[in-house]
Amino acid sequence: MNQHAPSSQSVDTRPLVAIIGGGPAGLIAAETLADAGINVELFDAMPSLGRKFLMAGRGGLNITHTEPFEDFITRYGERSAQMLPMLQNFDANHLRLWAANLGIETFVGSSGRVFPREMKAAPLLRAWLHRLRAQGVRFHVRHRWTGWEQQQLTFETPEGVRSVRADATLLALGGGSWAKLGSDGAWYPLLEAVGVLLQPLRPANCGFITDWSELMQSRHAGEPLKGVMLSCTDPQGKHWQQKGELMLTRYGLEGGLIYALSAPIRDTIETQGSAVITIDLIPDRSEQQLLKALSKPRGSRSLSNHLRRQGIKSIQTDLLREVLSAEQMQDMAQLASTLKSLPLTLTATRPMDEAISTTGGVDFSAMTEDLMLNKRPGTFCAGEMLDWEAPTGGYLLTACFASGHHAAKGVMKWLAAENRL
Ligand SMILES: Cc1cc2nc3c(=O)[nH]c(=O)nc-3n(C[C@H](O)[C@H](O)[C@H](O)COP(=O)(O)OP(=O)(O)OC[C@H]3O[C@@H](n4cnc5c(N)ncnc54)[C@H](O)[C@@H]3O)c2cc1C
Repeated sequence: MNQHAPSSQSVDTRPLVAIIGGGPAGLIAAETLADAGINVELFDAMPSLGRKFLMAGRGGLNITHTEPFEDFITRYGERSAQMLPMLQNFDANHLRLWAANLGIETFVGSSGRVFPREMKAAPLLRAWLHRLRAQGVRFHVRHRWTGWEQQQLTFETPEGVRSVRADATLLALGGGSWAKLGSDGAWYPLLEAVGVLLQPLRPANCGFITDWSELMQSRHAGEPLKGVMLSCTDPQGKHWQQKGELMLTRYGLEGGLIYALSAPIRDTIETQGSAVITIDLIPDRSEQQLLKALSKPRGSRSLSNHLRRQGIKSIQTDLLREVLSAEQMQDMAQLASTLKSLPLTLTATRPMDEAISTTGGVDFSAMTEDLMLNKRPGTFCAGEMLDWEAPTGGYLLTACFASGHHAAKGVMKWLAAENRL
């Protein structure tokens, strides 16, 4: 369908599908369509593809998780029902097989998380793009989608504005964090303008702000708190608890554990203005054991020395000082109970652009089950731009792959129904 394509020369009567967004969701959609012999042109605003995917690779690229499917699906919380059909057709096993087919061996880490053997995204992305090119997918970088003009897609390119007429379009534009990698959420007003129901983009898997003292900031910013237990209660009164690692920063908390509970904490801050979390700093010692240890004669030792002798680290002592008065600091029962349940008030999330992922975006009610926009027949959406969220652990990428695959299948069904296949 050459008169549609921006750069092709030869006569091609196959339908043209325009995919906009070259992250994992757009790329797997391109693969699914190209596998079926469909003519695919993929556009991306950035000078190269998969930049956020490459960034995910810096942390080892936790691509999926091996827990049983019935547990896996619960990670999508309120959106589990919507994600179910997508993940049933493209689950963790499917993703590992797919990677293996690309020559990328994966392994299961101790927590059940799955990583490529090389712990990097670049070899996988390179092999993938190579295979897509061989399948005939054409890439157009530096093409920023700016909306529609009648039935044509419009792009800003270094050569000026370009219009493309496609038989179907698949948007995989990402969420609203790490704008410098391409996912800037600038698509939001474009879809809003055509009446698509969207939920506000909000940070997910994000850091939080708390009001540390100067001492805390100067002494402990950048220090990890390993093996601690974090508890919080969401606005519906549900209690959340998880063990893991936190990272203290100048402004508050980052790290896997706070990301894991970021949704209930964020929701509490949104409804109540702040959220109080509690941290068990020493989960493997009971309060009684701690009290017994701390009650040993102190002699002439300073409190810090006394606590250190009883196995309390300086970061833990300084955290106690953050929440207890000088008088309370002398009360060993108070210290023991606070070590087991340190209350911290979090006042805000860190800015959305810093978040690992975002929630919000295209509301599921704005799409058919095949992820086609009701307001724009022939236009499908996939990936992080849809309104779902999940913790880290490989659930984000798996859902991006699964939804990209699902939307591509939807495109094929729609083209067939329109007699264009
Ligand atoms: C630091 C970090 C670490 C992460 N680690 C993990 C991990 O280990 N495991 C995991 O599961 N997930 C991880 N993630 C999340 C994961 O990378 C994302 O969820 C995933 O990349 C989203 O895929 P996507 O295809 O929906 O969108 P993206 O990967 O964001 O791709 C969207 C693409 O659309 C393009 N685009 C946007 N707007 C336009 C426009 N108007 N015109 C043209 N092109 C446009 C962008 O340039 C971009 O290439 C991590 C994220 C970050 C930031």
